[in-house]
Amino acid sequence: MKARPPAKAARVFHSGFVAVLGRPNVGKSTLVNRFVGRKVSITSDHPQTTRRRISGVVTTDDCQMVLLDLPGFQRPFDSLTRRMQKTVDETLSEVDAALFLLNAEEPFAGGDRFIAAAVAEAKLPVVVALNKMDRLAEKAMPRVLAEAAQLVPHLSVFPLSALTGNGADALLAELVAAMPEGPMYFPDGEVSDQPLEALIAELVREQALRRTREEVPHAIAVEVASINERKDRPLVEIEANLIVETESQKAIVVGKGGSVVKQVGTAARHEIEAILGVQVFLALRVKVRKHWRRDESYIERLL
Ligand code: GDP
Ligand code: MG
Repeated sequence: MKARPPAKAARVFHSGFVAVLGRPNVGKSTLVNRFVGRKVSITSDHPQTTRRRISGVVTTDDCQMVLLDLPGFQRPFDSLTRRMQKTVDETLSEVDAALFLLNAEEPFAGGDRFIAAAVAEAKLPVVVALNKMDRLAEKAMPRVLAEAAQLVPHLSVFPLSALTGNGADALLAELVAAMPEGPMYFPDGEVSDQPLEALIAELVREQALRRTREEVPHAIAVEVASINERKDRPLVEIEANLIVETESQKAIVVGKGGSVVKQVGTAARHEIEAILGVQVFLALRVKVRKHWRRDESYIERLL
């Protein structure tokens, strides 16, 4: 029997978080700006305490990538402390892919080797680009590309000029191809406070869906009631409600002695902490809202 081709109508959306790595001055910001283009405004009005700043959101027809800047990498690599190692390892365990930039204009250094070693260990797609190719004489290109390839064996190196845009399309395509299936975290065209709530709601919902079956997942909605950044310590307090349609669904989502909602909360909290880079207190409540799926105005509010 012939396998049926996948239905065209159900186009799958892909999305993910991408750590942008590279020594200072390698061209990370320039590249992110190029990728983001004029389509999206970059804002960094996320909590002050955020370690992993969202530097840009790239949205195409069927993919969204949230590019993350890692302040740890903004510093010169003179002190390779254990803390630095920890930051790198943690970050790489929390993103869907890494984009590693090298600078063709300068000799590779300790910082590059440090990142190369970290990404070699990480179990995630890594895309490597050799930036500032426009600064090289044509005959020097093969040699520098070969040196870069040596630094990251098993990975291919994309030649790039973030400044002129040469090579940017191929690089973007490679990144898009590495994104897993996922939701649209931010509405196309903007990054602001509202989407942070949407993102949190989506992360909570995802965890709830994983722990319920049959008709229950469809009946689950999540609303974020409040996000409060504590002034006295690095902590973000979040209140969110898991909305279901019936008491019996509520019993399932709550679980025995609250076990299910507790698991959902813990898993979602870890995800949110990974993104905000700060400790999170997440208060989750399960509420019944009869027939919310038929309430157009309510649905509008959720989205
Ligand atoms: P970051 O520290 O990694 O974010 O680096 P930036 O994006 O701020 O870039 C550092 C400097 O390198 C800036 O002056 C950029 O204009 C320049 N730059 C970035 N990409 C390129 C490139 O492809 N070619 C050239 N010639 N300069 C570049
Ligand atoms: Mg920068």
